[in-house]
Amino acid sequence: MHEASIAVSLIEVACEVMREHGAARASALTVRVGQWSSVVPEALNAAFEACAEDTPLAGAALSIERVPGIGECPQHGPVELELRRGLRCPLCGAATPTLLQGDELELDSLELA
Ligand SMILES: [Zn+2]
Repeated sequence: MHEASIAVSLIEVACEVMREHGAARASALTVRVGQWSSVVPEALNAAFEACAEDTPLAGAALSIERVPGIGECPQHGPVELELRRGLRCPLCGAATPTLLQGDELELDSLELA
């Protein structure tokens, strides 16, 4: 369960933020998940619900924001990649081995209660 360990670390990060703000509970959080990260949003949602029980995040609403993959084409600069084509520029087919964006998994915002 890949998503379970991700959910646990998200909860840890969120709890850290809450401690910094002296908040006892959070009502909602938003997470940015890159389209190229191997995370399945539905699985993450389910894992979060299960792992958040007995933490200050129990019952908090999780929103998942999908971040599209952007690669760097030698000719076209930053281009939006299509998952089914792999790491290739959709305009000219050149390899774009560097992912500029799209593999992130980070806490974007936290609504404190
Ligand atoms: Zn190109």
